[in-house]
Amino acid sequence: MLPFIRSDLAQLTAYTPHPSSTDGKPIESVIDRLDTNESPYDLPRELKQKLAWIYQETIETNRYPDAGHAVLKAAIAEYINESANLTQGAIAPAQISVGNGSDELIRSLLIATCLGGEGSILVANPTFSMYGILAHTLGIPVVTVGRNSEFEIDWVAAQAAIETTDNPPIRVVFIVHPNSPTGNTLTNAELEWIRSLPEEILVVIDEAYFEFSQTSVVGELLQKPNWVVLRTFSKAFRLAALRVGYAIASPEITAVLEKVRLPYNLPSFSQAAAILALQQRDLLLQSISLVCAERTKLIQALSQYSALKVNYSAANFVYVQSNHPTQANKFLATLAQQIRSRGTTLRLLSGGLRITVGSPEENARTLARLESAVKSCESLS
Ligand SMILES: *Cc1c(COP(=O)(O)O)cnc(C)c1O
Repeated sequence: MLPFIRSDLAQLTAYTPHPSSTDGKPIESVIDRLDTNESPYDLPRELKQKLAWIYQETIETNRYPDAGHAVLKAAIAEYINESANLTQGAIAPAQISVGNGSDELIRSLLIATCLGGEGSILVANPTFSMYGILAHTLGIPVVTVGRNSEFEIDWVAAQAAIETTDNPPIRVVFIVHPNSPTGNTLTNAELEWIRSLPEEILVVIDEAYFEFSQTSVVGELLQKPNWVVLRTFSKAFRLAALRVGYAIASPEITAVLEKVRLPYNLPSFSQAAAILALQQRDLLLQSISLVCAERTKLIQALSQYSALKVNYSAANFVYVQSNHPTQANKFLATLAQQIRSRGTTLRLLSGGLRITVGSPEENARTLARLESAVKSCESLS
């Protein structure tokens, strides 16, 4: 370890979205990437041309980007208000903060709440790994609780953890709605628990998959001074390459997020792309119904395997577990490796396998690979 590097970083491993091959096959052998929940659909050609024109004619590359993101924030606020069930009032642009992906916003939230020994965070596993990873890079302790067989948060354990953790106390609870990797939306019991959390605790509700689930807590946000909703353009809006995410919160929380972020966090091109995507949302979001129809087909096809336990999903991925009585994890690891060697990458987690819903062609190829891979895993009995 380099002598000038913080000692606690030695134990950390870098986040690898596409882990390098474990079966000796080079990465080029992978044809279908169903491991990072991207949209299978690139931007339509006419939108790419429009964006190229915007870049050519309106972006001066010698100038810094708009550091206030004014046009983008106004467009995001309009989109939220159109899609949210706000009984009174509206989300204002001053309640939006934009990040270089929602990952940046997660880090800003951690910096603003827990840095310097002031707080710990709480997550319910399995969930999005980035909260824990980013917390650890900042030296912030992570308290974990589990979920039941329906993947509901063990909120009794979570509540106990909040009441007993000090030095430093839990300052932030991170929740994904619908959860990744498991695909389930928040139940009424979970929502009641979240509503009961005291105002000293920041509740971050990550709605990265909102456009697929069409369920949101934004309608309650105006009454909740300690809630933040995160969204992203990386999934349904098909802009993962350009890294745009946003937070919706009170003006006070938003002001702090603006304070801790880097001034030019979002390139002009990314801002232009997100604005265009919002203007063209009717066209872009047409892909949602295709993805959801493919999700239904995928779940049906996977459910035919007695070796697999397939879960319902409100997002653009399906979480599959093993029914193997003794070697569930080994079965899934072998299965993932076999499918990968045939050309599809999936996300292997401890306890399950997450399959992103791809295009009809990607899904058909993947199901064929799964069929032959399951056969070769049958010896594991
Ligand atoms: C994909 C995903 C994000 C998106 O991250 P970006 O940095 O905006 O690409 C955020 N949260 C969860 C739970 C996700 O699955």
